[in-house]
Amino acid sequence: MKNRLGIIGFCHDENSSFMRGTAAAPQLIRKALFSDASNLWTESGVDLGQPDIFFDAGDLDQVSGTDATAAIENSITLLLSQRIRPLSLGGDHSITYPIVRALAREYPELSLLHFDAHPDLYDDFQGNRHSHACPFARIMEEKLVQRLVQVGIRTMNGHQRDQARRFGVEVIEMKELQEGLELNFDTPLYVSVDMDVLDPAFAPGVSHREPGGLSTRQLLKIIQGIRVPVVGADIVEFNPQMDLLGITATVCAKILKELSAVMVQNG
Ligand code: MN
Ligand code: MN
Repeated sequence: MKNRLGIIGFCHDENSSFMRGTAAAPQLIRKALFSDASNLWTESGVDLGQPDIFFDAGDLDQVSGTDATAAIENSITLLLSQRIRPLSLGGDHSITYPIVRALAREYPELSLLHFDAHPDLYDDFQGNRHSHACPFARIMEEKLVQRLVQVGIRTMNGHQRDQARRFGVEVIEMKELQEGLELNFDTPLYVSVDMDVLDPAFAPGVSHREPGGLSTRQLLKIIQGIRVPVVGADIVEFNPQMDLLGITATVCAKILKELSAVMVQNG
């Protein structure tokens, strides 16, 4: 099979504004994914347990300052050069900017589907332009994607609304989300899942709990409705320190499985 899926962990949480802890997430998501509590078949009938689907690229430990951006970007570039599609496990949301930088070189017509309670469009946050509150401002400034569609947003403020308008971001706020949402992408897609897009009742293990979010089923349904090739994805902002009984780790693994199925099936 061409284009294997490369699981890579970024144990990076120093750009988190409120609380650390997401650096510990990757190994717990892996553990939940391969746990005997479930199996590796997806809902659509893909057996992810076949030996030629996943490649485990290991974890990149915390790197400080601007070196982190380069280190993350380089590790993704390396995977792409081996025709491996990255499935990145965060870490906080700041990792998405360097990941998308690497992918944009390979896919100039890239579109981006971003699930989050927060738009993460701050020009800077508390003086940090690489804060986890800023990655999508960096991505749009550099015109790395041709479309950015955000789903599940429920913390919009004045500054970020201005930024969204300025960058032409298509924002589907949680309050206006319709059942049966269909997203019509027509170019290769990158999918970024911030776990706080889910209601904290489904995923309590996040640094910024924001009530009124998606159910796990609603998120899976949107993911399963993607019809274009998915060339990379990330699952970020799972904070084990805030989790209860390992619930959120299991939810991360479930999302990872169904994202993987879409990647395998859409080619
Ligand atoms: Mn985010
Ligand atoms: Mn968020």
